[in-house]
Amino acid sequence: MLVRFWGTRGSLPASLNYRAVRAKIRDALVAARGENLGSDQAIDGFIDRLPFPVRGTYGGNSSCVELVTGSDEYLLCDLGSGVREFGNGVLGKYGPGQPRRYHVFMSHLHWDHIMGFPFFTPAYIPGNVIRIYGSHKVMREALERQQSNPTFPVDFKTLGATIEFVELEPGRTYDVVGGVSVRSFVQNHAGNSYGFRFSHQNKIVVYSTDSEHKYETLDRTYPFVDHFRDADLLIFDAMYSLADQISVKEDWGHSSNIVGVELAQLAGAKHLVMFHHEPIHDDHMLERILAETRRYAEINDPERKLTITSAYDGLEIPV
Ligand SMILES: [Zn+2]
Ligand SMILES: [Zn+2]
Repeated sequence: MLVRFWGTRGSLPASLNYRAVRAKIRDALVAARGENLGSDQAIDGFIDRLPFPVRGTYGGNSSCVELVTGSDEYLLCDLGSGVREFGNGVLGKYGPGQPRRYHVFMSHLHWDHIMGFPFFTPAYIPGNVIRIYGSHKVMREALERQQSNPTFPVDFKTLGATIEFVELEPGRTYDVVGGVSVRSFVQNHAGNSYGFRFSHQNKIVVYSTDSEHKYETLDRTYPFVDHFRDADLLIFDAMYSLADQISVKEDWGHSSNIVGVELAQLAGAKHLVMFHHEPIHDDHMLERILAETRRYAEINDPERKLTITSAYDGLEIPV
């Protein structure tokens, strides 16, 4: 399996402004002083050695993650603004003339998780089949409402693709496509959200975003330890710092990097991916949080090897 991140930002897309781009260029030029950059190869090597916040960006699209399984049908989690680029990528590869099938798992219907759908071009093309899975009874209504007069010029009901809705029962295991099975579980978030535990050829990927965990309830009996058990990849809502999560932002429905480490270690997960980044966190801040999180994991359980990554738009992780 390969997991591809199309949108990793929480709550609202957040683009870089020109000052942020200029600062990156400046930092790179300062670092280039005294370097011999006479060949293209030397330039590429130099760029690759720069810190990630200088040579890149975590990106600004809201939640959308693809699970690539080798099947010719697509599997996605959430329809945030990242799905626009995903859809354009598919059309660029196959053209509009070849119908495809898409399976989309919805954590919940907050705007940042559905806002990409009106810009998902395959939805406009007859022949495509888009099957949307989730446990909220109002999935169709939410998508129809955001894509109708007066908030959008093209009405949902006029879309050319066949769009189907499948209601999932939490706790039950379903076979989806290409040998993938999935089990969903309810999460603590305004109006409820659902996490998904995907399994494919003995590999486990858990998608768990927009979910708050009370710090004092974390022990081996906490149900999420079981939901995350032995995950090869755990995609986790690490929007806040722990200090924020247990003080000013308590009950806002999100979690922290520290809680992510605690749960990943309790569950024996192998790789923790921090996801749903706070829009006010810039690239340097996200890099600092990543370094602190890795340090915390080492101190908290030095025996257990836990890989930690901070998700960015365009990231691909083989599982
Ligand atoms: Zn969200
Ligand atoms: Zn939400």
